[in-house]
Amino acid sequence: MYKNTQVLIVGGSINGLTLAILLAQNGLDVTIIEPKKLTSRGLSSFDGRAYALALTTHKMFNALNIWDGLKMNSEPILDIKIDAPNDRVNKPNSLLHFNHLEMAEDENPMGYIVEDRYLRKYLFSQLKSFKNINIMDESYITDCEVNNGHAFSFSSTGEKIKSNLIIGCDGKNSVTANFANINEFGWDYNQTSLVCAIDHEKPHNSCAYQLFKPSGPIAILPLPGNRSSIVWTEDNKTAAFITQLNKKDYIANLNSKINLDLGKISLSGKQFSYPLILTLREYFISDRIALVGDSAHGIHPLAGQGLNLGLRDVASIGEIIINAHRRGEDIGSLAVLKRYETWRRFETSMMAATTDIINKTFSNNNMILKTVTNLGLRFLNENQFLKKHLIREAAGLNGNIPKLLKGKLI
Ligand SMILES: Cc1cc2nc3c(=O)[nH]c(=O)nc-3n(C[C@H](O)[C@H](O)[C@H](O)COP(=O)(O)OP(=O)(O)OC[C@H]3O[C@@H](n4cnc5c(N)ncnc54)[C@H](O)[C@@H]3O)c2cc1C
Repeated sequence: MYKNTQVLIVGGSINGLTLAILLAQNGLDVTIIEPKKLTSRGLSSFDGRAYALALTTHKMFNALNIWDGLKMNSEPILDIKIDAPNDRVNKPNSLLHFNHLEMAEDENPMGYIVEDRYLRKYLFSQLKSFKNINIMDESYITDCEVNNGHAFSFSSTGEKIKSNLIIGCDGKNSVTANFANINEFGWDYNQTSLVCAIDHEKPHNSCAYQLFKPSGPIAILPLPGNRSSIVWTEDNKTAAFITQLNKKDYIANLNSKINLDLGKISLSGKQFSYPLILTLREYFISDRIALVGDSAHGIHPLAGQGLNLGLRDVASIGEIIINAHRRGEDIGSLAVLKRYETWRRFETSMMAATTDIINKTFSNNNMILKTVTNLGLRFLNENQFLKKHLIREAAGLNGNIPKLLKGKLI
């Protein structure tokens, strides 16, 4: 016996959970399959990850009616300072400074920082209110096949699922993409992001910092209270050395690198590390299968755009499927899915390329390149027009954006 569902979502992380809510709100019948236990997963302890949510992602969560529950655990971004190292004095230069009052619409913050654990917990709590969402946790897809106008999937717990469409939200190394025989391109950055949260004596004043160092960028993202999330990228060898340091030496090393006026700092919870690779799938779709988020594109985290890109995929595929369903079209047909690929392919490839170029330009010790980039950042800082364009890009406001990212319902 097959379980019938209109859309099978493979992967119950943030992209998968948000997509399930969006489709269910619009009357589609959804099944979500996730290997980990969704009910208790990451609900209490800090797992290292915090996201810089772009302004458009905030608008999307508002439109989906899921922002109010996240608000109290989020920190607005009012300033962003981007610095390159100055070799003469060991202090950041503040080469480029964005303030929300000069940049964003309606004096809104430029974005919000939310920890993964709160985001996931809240999204999961919302799923439970939908009768048309079927949750299969502690289970994963072992195989799938497409024939006679349907997709047939088989789970590790022995269940069989028949659906009109499978959406892979299963991250890098996506099994959904592999079942569909979609090739992957990419390369290893030979860099690792060391991730932790810190407590500090002085307030961060809702300012996010991006410090470019020869071995890799460091992001300091403000969390509620006197806490910040750190994404500290080093080459693999240095990262391996830092990882095995005791807490005292780890924090001393970090402090000497960031050198910000935050007073005494200490670790808040455990440290984590993420090896960095770039991955891009040759196609985002095949017959009755579509890829969303990191399963389609995994980019360098330096611009804090990976999840934002994934949520844009969610808003785009959601808009296409919901409209197709309303018109009576077959939601899993190639004709419908092609619209999604056409919409998302260019922007995601451009973002992957841009973050790759920025990383290569800044993460090196070449004096000429360093001088040119420092001059470039200073020039940019003086140019209001370019600055505004850049921050609108980071906020996700440029280009052909889905309705949800404008805060409108589909
Ligand atoms: C250090 C670091 C910092 C970052 N900071 C930011 C930031 O500030 N802002 C931002 O926008 N992005 C950021 N990103 C990127 C962001 O973390 C990712 O883009 C995002 O988490 C991808 O989400 P996803 O749902 O596509 O995949 P994932 O989060 O990888 O989730 C995949 C899910 O699929 C499940 N799964 C796997 N296999 C199967 C299977 N066979 N069957 C069913 N389910 C399966 C997994 O258990 C998991 O729950 C950062 C990334 C890193 C590494």
